[in-house]
Amino acid sequence: MGAVPDSAVAELRAALSADAVVHARGEAGYAEEAAGYNAASKIDTDFVIGIATEEDAVAVVRFAAAYRLPITIGATGHGQYRPLHEGVYLRTHRMRKLEIDKAAKTFTVGAGQRWFQVLPAIREAGLLAVTGSSPSVGIIGLTMGGGVGPLSRKLGIVADRILAYRVVTADGDLKVVTADSYPDLFQALKGGKVGLGLVTEATFQAEEMEHVYGGGLFFVGDAIAPVWHAWADWTKTLPVEATTSANIVRFPPVGVPELFAGRTVLHIRFAYVDPDASDEEMAAKGAALIEPIRAAGEVYHDTLGLLAADELGAIHLDPDGPLPMAVAGQGLVDIDHEFVDTLLSFAGDGKDVAFVATEVRHWGHGGAIEEAGVNTVNSIGGARAPYHLLTIATPVEELFAEAFPASRDAVYSALAKWFGPETNYNWAGSPDDEKWRTLWSPETAARLEATRAKYDPEHLFTTGH
Ligand SMILES: Cc1cc2nc3c(=O)[nH]c(=O)nc-3n(C[C@H](O)[C@H](O)[C@H](O)COP(=O)(O)OP(=O)(O)OC[C@H]3O[C@@H](n4cnc5c(N)ncnc54)[C@H](O)[C@@H]3O)c2cc1C
Repeated sequence: MGAVPDSAVAELRAALSADAVVHARGEAGYAEEAAGYNAASKIDTDFVIGIATEEDAVAVVRFAAAYRLPITIGATGHGQYRPLHEGVYLRTHRMRKLEIDKAAKTFTVGAGQRWFQVLPAIREAGLLAVTGSSPSVGIIGLTMGGGVGPLSRKLGIVADRILAYRVVTADGDLKVVTADSYPDLFQALKGGKVGLGLVTEATFQAEEMEHVYGGGLFFVGDAIAPVWHAWADWTKTLPVEATTSANIVRFPPVGVPELFAGRTVLHIRFAYVDPDASDEEMAAKGAALIEPIRAAGEVYHDTLGLLAADELGAIHLDPDGPLPMAVAGQGLVDIDHEFVDTLLSFAGDGKDVAFVATEVRHWGHGGAIEEAGVNTVNSIGGARAPYHLLTIATPVEELFAEAFPASRDAVYSALAKWFGPETNYNWAGSPDDEKWRTLWSPETAARLEATRAKYDPEHLFTTGH
């Protein structure tokens, strides 16, 4: 990194739009601009810069390139696990463009948009966006890792919905990136995650739909084990219209609805979606399909029903944050009854494990996630794994240094025989070198390295590797 003269910082400030901010380390406002969803993230970069326009984006990338300041991008901070010690932490949360083309069934969002900020307007246009599980996640950040969500076995990964990106590459050039204009970069952006450029906006294909059938069933106590076992068998029989996951949540005694306070709960998430079916048909087929899970144990709480296109967050009920977060994830080749028993021996009711959530998502046995893992139009990793394991640390930061790694190591080594060769980046936390090698297939990883080297030869955009 080169020394940055005060005059260059002053010039940058003068060049940026009125809403943009530039904070050098130690200046007032730095911590507020650096803060995000993961309250445990450690940001100590030379600058935190918040941009508001594409012109700002170009100016900051050129400034950083001129002084060899590595850039790490942050929209919401949902994915910010790696401590940052140098360069620019570039915040995009002010970039709130939203354009909806009802006739073309498309919408365009700026880099700072989160799902909950855009879904009501998309629904009002009669459209449904394919999203991830949490409405508070940043739209672009999610798609940079591919983006598998609660409707994905039928409607695909979120990145595959993107028709065009606008991207500032390391040379400071603003590019319109489509399958025709820059096919290599277009493919890389759909799951390649890091080291490619700064996306300023993207245009997505939506579905013309008002509702899906979905929500969750909750189980406690003695019902947890039989339902978990039934879920493992049931997933192998599901049509592609159904996407589901199972999550054991250990709720704290305070700060959550009384129904859940202090309890360990198995939350089965479920969605049934079919753009060709009526709402009544979806509701009837979805309800019939989940009957074996309902029958496997006494239902403690039930939120299943028709959900409007802007209520998809009700399927997973992820916390809105900010929270201290530490996560670990792993693609699985299969799950069986031995897997379930092993998982429950660590994370079941009454067990002592440092995870607030222990989750398995079902991705395989046909459907669009599996297809996304083998097609050649994107760069998503881990999508060939029929299941994905995700563990989230108890939101007590003091436990992150020892208790969470200890729990993770114990659980992950006990489950190792079900592990597949790949994991998706969006669930990888802060991947170390060993994990990094599992984020894509060897062919995709090699192609991504070539694309990163072509568009960012000086490694301006950080990868952490
Ligand atoms: C509660 C919760 C639920 C989640 N559910 C899902 C899910 O269902 N499916 C799924 O796939 N993932 C899921 N994730 C993971 C999430 O998609 C990733 O953490 C993602 O990186 C978050 O993006 P962000 O912009 O919100 O976060 P940030 O921390 O702001 O960004 C994370 C990274 O995304 C990249 N990025 C962000 N914006 C841009 C940009 N404009 N240009 C280029 N790169 C950019 C950068 O590498 C950045 O460091 C979930 C995470 C949480 C905390």
